[in-house]
Amino acid sequence: MTFSIHGLAVSRGVAIGRAVLVASSRMDVAHYFIAANDVEAEIERVRVGRDAVIEELQRLQTSISHMGPKEAPHELSALLDVHLMLLQDAELISGVKGWISDRLYNAEWALTTQLEIIARHFDEMEDAYLRERKADLEQIVERILRAMKGVASPVVASPARATRKPMQQDLLLGDTVDVPLVLVAHDLSPADMLQFKQSVFAGFITDVGGKTSHTAIVARSMDIPAVVGARTCSQLVRQDDWIIIDGDAGVIIVDPSPIILAEYGFKQRQGDLERSRLTRLLHTPAVTMDGEKIQLLANIEMPEDASSALQAGALGVGLFRSEFLFMGRQGNLPDEEEQFQAYKRAVEGMQGLPVTIRTVDVGADKPLDSSVHDDAHLNPALGLRAIRWSLADPAMFLTQLRAILRAAAFGQVHLLIPMLAHASEIRQTLAHIERARAMLDKRGIAYGPVKLGAMIEIPAAALSLKLFLKHFDFLSIGTNDLIQYTLAIDRADESVAHLYDPLHPAVLQLVASTIEECVKQGKDVSVCGEMAGDVTLTRLLLGLGLRSFSMHPAQILAVKQEILRADTTRLAPWAQRVLASETPALEMTASAQ
Ligand code: PEP
Ligand code: MG
Repeated sequence: MTFSIHGLAVSRGVAIGRAVLVASSRMDVAHYFIAANDVEAEIERVRVGRDAVIEELQRLQTSISHMGPKEAPHELSALLDVHLMLLQDAELISGVKGWISDRLYNAEWALTTQLEIIARHFDEMEDAYLRERKADLEQIVERILRAMKGVASPVVASPARATRKPMQQDLLLGDTVDVPLVLVAHDLSPADMLQFKQSVFAGFITDVGGKTSHTAIVARSMDIPAVVGARTCSQLVRQDDWIIIDGDAGVIIVDPSPIILAEYGFKQRQGDLERSRLTRLLHTPAVTMDGEKIQLLANIEMPEDASSALQAGALGVGLFRSEFLFMGRQGNLPDEEEQFQAYKRAVEGMQGLPVTIRTVDVGADKPLDSSVHDDAHLNPALGLRAIRWSLADPAMFLTQLRAILRAAAFGQVHLLIPMLAHASEIRQTLAHIERARAMLDKRGIAYGPVKLGAMIEIPAAALSLKLFLKHFDFLSIGTNDLIQYTLAIDRADESVAHLYDPLHPAVLQLVASTIEECVKQGKDVSVCGEMAGDVTLTRLLLGLGLRSFSMHPAQILAVKQEILRADTTRLAPWAQRVLASETPALEMTASAQ
């Protein structure tokens, strides 16, 4: 039966494919694809894990058989029997093998996927006793996962196919080629997303998350249709359901009829056509109709993204979110040499163009490890995040600073500091940079000059511009956080997503005054939050005097198209009217330029 689900549109376009559910269970496991020739080894890992659990339970059985009914009630033995029986369950075993051999899922992913499927069968059972066996199944899968922890996977994240071989039902529908897959999850951490980045799923859906949550940002950087904040989607969709994701409207259609499929197939082709039309602008300089040159820069997450930045015609990297090098490593942070090599790869990849490396910004919705949930802090977005984290761990911060300074010997590097608010933080940061230089001098290691920049993403910073401009060569406006902190709206919380408003007059005031002050003092300023890549806001930002935009490479050409059609002499007075309005969004439509 066809039905639709509404969420938040985060990444444009239409994707049509079969659902791959990433289990949302409390068992937080790694999800990655294995290489085809590691299938046997991966199945063996599950077998070893399962055998270890069987042995453990049998040992327990034997020991309780010697106990009296007081220490070991009869129910305990019966429960162990049930668990031993479930461990031999053919549906569990053959299902897990299937996910590994047909889809190349890693063992943990295969196990939790099959658990989810069998658990649904249990949920549907009429018999209450049988329904309760779901909990037993969860327990034994958890035991297997624990037992498998000691048995490492042969590979990590090989570049995977995002398609699978057609199944019987696809053939009936006429699919004889590989079928695209779309990922459906309750939640995905930014680190999970990064792993999936290599596997090129056709689309993503998550139940939670706001438009500028970091998971949404990574999805957008992959330039594939995505919807977040779809609430109960992962419970309503089943493995292998046909799904349409309309990333422009934020709509998901499950089990579409042939007519709907045909309609969205058409829309998908139109989108592809529009995108290929935009490639005509690749070598066109970004200059407005009145001759203003605009700098279009790229936001990247990994050094390897430099190539897509160049391919999209970026004139440099305006934001390298270095924290992605630190995530998903079970606390083993990259050392100076590893970081240096990564930054150097990005710098060399940009072939002489500037690369803005932002020091690590973990915390809030970017935990170091997806399995480590930040329950320790009451309000992580207001907690030990970004520069606060760096200043709290000087050895780690100095390591990163040395690595960045060393990479600057290989090309133009700008060093960007996130989340500053206090004069004392600025002072400490500058002192650490000096100290990092002195350490390199002492060790006789070469390093290069850097331009020093600060992110303006806390309202307090936007209201202390003179202080910031005294110490920094350039400013970069992080509108994602600036909006979050100005409006007190958690950017990752879909329940308040409707209040997350880039056009709120207070937000616009802060953005406008930052640009104005920088222009007045002749300092470079750019916007690197998601506002920079939103074509509906390009004219407004131009009108406010912005001349440097940093965004995901995939958005560059569409923004350039807006720029080529713009006349800043007309946009400037219009932008002032929008700025003065109580309802800027209405003013923008009423007096569109
Ligand atoms: C921002 O806050 O706008 C920004 C660019 O940084 P991040 O999205 O990584 O917090
Ligand atoms: Mg930010």
